[in-house]
Amino acid sequence: SEWLIYSTWWVGDNLSSLMQSVGASEKVFQLMDLPSSNQFVSEGSQLQRLAGHIQLSDVSFRYASRPTVPVLQHINLDVYPHESVAIVGLSGSGKSTLVSLLLRLYEPTSGQIKLDGYPIQDLDVKWFRERVGYVGQEPRLFRMDISSNISYGCTRIVTQEDVEWAAKQAYAHDFILALPQGYQTLVDDDLLSGGQKQRIAIARALLRDPDILILDEATSALDAESEHNVKGVLRALRQDRKTKRTVIVIAHRLSTIQAADRIIVMENGTIVEVGSHSELLRKDGLYSRLARRQADAVVPS
Ligand code: ATP
Repeated sequence: SEWLIYSTWWVGDNLSSLMQSVGASEKVFQLMDLPSSNQFVSEGSQLQRLAGHIQLSDVSFRYASRPTVPVLQHINLDVYPHESVAIVGLSGSGKSTLVSLLLRLYEPTSGQIKLDGYPIQDLDVKWFRERVGYVGQEPRLFRMDISSNISYGCTRIVTQEDVEWAAKQAYAHDFILALPQGYQTLVDDDLLSGGQKQRIAIARALLRDPDILILDEATSALDAESEHNVKGVLRALRQDRKTKRTVIVIAHRLSTIQAADRIIVMENGTIVEVGSHSELLRKDGLYSRLARRQADAVVPS
């Protein structure tokens, strides 16, 4: 239905790849097809803007296809308004699953997720998807010029100035200006690297001014360019008080992690450590082992 198409815009075109990667498609469509009676329950207009407070209380989750495997176990976490949080952990520790619960692609098997104090299942889905932006690892761009790719799906009228503002926030402005026709350059298959594509998608998300931004940092991006990728975005968001929003990043790089207010370390579906980069290094636990491993990996040979 039209409604469905509209609501998938926001989570962007990355939703489809996320669905494939988590095998969630059926459930997603069930959630999106919630009847309109499932409107936001409180005096909805009060919440034109979310503060961006996310609370997970004793959240556990199993995939229906593997009911014997607990993927998330008793997760308790508060992400505060305007906080930037990085989630780290080995492959399979449950990072993506946690994010897909926050995006309402799945519902917890038990426990509760609240947004600004409201159970997320009571929020209107369409409204929710407008307030929560998601950028996946391999966002899809279109055969249109750069400006149109950034403004794609935006429901309000945006100016070129708005587009460039978003691109600056996403650390994309400089590389865009270096393209043959700048913002008017047509996007084709070979034009942009993985990290650049992700920055375009971040600009697209920021132009919509979400209250909560969720990013899965691209692992495909080269290390050198990734320095300016999600890490830069976190910095920019922190510096510009007008753009304050809650940011959650599934982080794969040490440099990104350092820019976050708080780091959540996951192992086997549980949160094993929480703290700043320096606090976690002092603990000398899983985080510092991961950090050492990554530091070793980037030492030039
Ligand atoms: P990565 O860094 O590799 O993306 P991750 O920390 O994000 O890993 P998840 O993708 O959340 O971890 O996976 C957690 C566990 O859930 C793994 O054991 C994984 O095999 C399993 N899992 C993930 N998606 C599904 C699914 N759609 N159905 C069944 N099991 C799944």
